[in-house]
Amino acid sequence: MKLTHIYRIKPSTEQVAIMDTWLEMLRRHFNYALGQRFDWLRRTRCQIDRCSLISEPIGDIPNLFPSYNFQAGELKTTKELFPIYKEIHAEVQQQNLKRLDKAWQRCIKPDKSGKRAGRPRFKKQGEMRSFTFPRINGPKAGVNKIEAGVLTLSKIGSMPVIMHRPFSHGFELKTATIVKKADGWYIAISLEDDSVPSPKPIDEIKTVIGIDLGLKAFLVTSVGESVEVQQHYRKTQKHLARQQKRLARKTSGSRNAQKQKEKVCRIHQRIGRKRENFHYNIAHQLVKQYDLIAVEDLNIKGLRRTRLAKSIYDVAWGKFLTILEAVALRSGVHLVKVSPHNTTVDCSRCGTKVPKTLAVRLHECTKCSLEMDRDENAAINILHKALNAVGLTVSAYRRLSGCTPDEVGIPNCEFGKLTLILTDIASEDVTSL
Ligand SMILES: [Zn+2]
Repeated sequence: MKLTHIYRIKPSTEQVAIMDTWLEMLRRHFNYALGQRFDWLRRTRCQIDRCSLISEPIGDIPNLFPSYNFQAGELKTTKELFPIYKEIHAEVQQQNLKRLDKAWQRCIKPDKSGKRAGRPRFKKQGEMRSFTFPRINGPKAGVNKIEAGVLTLSKIGSMPVIMHRPFSHGFELKTATIVKKADGWYIAISLEDDSVPSPKPIDEIKTVIGIDLGLKAFLVTSVGESVEVQQHYRKTQKHLARQQKRLARKTSGSRNAQKQKEKVCRIHQRIGRKRENFHYNIAHQLVKQYDLIAVEDLNIKGLRRTRLAKSIYDVAWGKFLTILEAVALRSGVHLVKVSPHNTTVDCSRCGTKVPKTLAVRLHECTKCSLEMDRDENAAINILHKALNAVGLTVSAYRRLSGCTPDEVGIPNCEFGKLTLILTDIASEDVTSL
């Protein structure tokens, strides 16, 4: 399992100057290496049936693609031509090229779902914000180490680190990435542990929950609990607009514009952090209470293009699901993603299709006359789908206080929470419910 811990670092003014120079030099080298690849593509391709009237490749056509190995081999020449690159730790420069190569591969080869990323772009001034040391604290890492609150880096020196938490036990330190953020410098340490945390065996699952994510409430669970939407962005929108207007009035490139830009960046950073904190809180609460969590596998990209785009960006379900997945993995909780198809339409008790528009908040079944909140109904459906997926079924609902199955799912019931008794699909007849 891989983890990343981020700590704040306190570099001196001289060290900040060195790191800023590194970022700029690495940015230029990144752009050069990317240009070299584009150039090769342009020169080795032409129309098969005609000649271009505008341009034709001149000079030698390199028959070797400027791959990572080729470009890394050229680093030596770069250092001879531009001695300033001698001042940058060699492995950091290799990592910089590796990063380019990864971006390139993502653009060339489709991933599991058959999608390719966009082509890598040239980085503008200030757009390179991090560099990576591939080894830290090991025998081969040299002087690069982080120990007792002090970070030592080759050619940069030692600086204090604010160790607000210890490294997770049993993990090995892998890479260290220095990141420049709106409010200062940070170090992101990636940790790795070879042992894979095993999820709870299926027959030991005792508590389960289905979750419906929404814009009205951030989430509604299958037992009718809901969490309000926070709207971190909307709350700050006016303030942000004012600061952005001020930025627009400053002369571009001036010292004052730079200062104002930093201010705007910090607002964005604060919004992001509030949202992340909220997501982590919810994820931990869920993982603490349940052994299996069922969620919808949302098509977030498709939703983004609708009128609700801003609200959807603000709730950031995608980020929440990533966080929930990571938190669940660490504590051995099952997270099951199901297709959202028909989850709002189906009746959670009898399965009849009850079509409704977004404005209809209540689910009213025409067949079994079940009445409940639409999101809660959806959450129950999501849970059912997930239980089927892992080979469990809700063979009987039982309330601790002894309600009959007919009352199941009725909100505002004065008895306590529902308890689901789960058994294996094989041992019970599913249809008897
Ligand atoms: Zn029904």
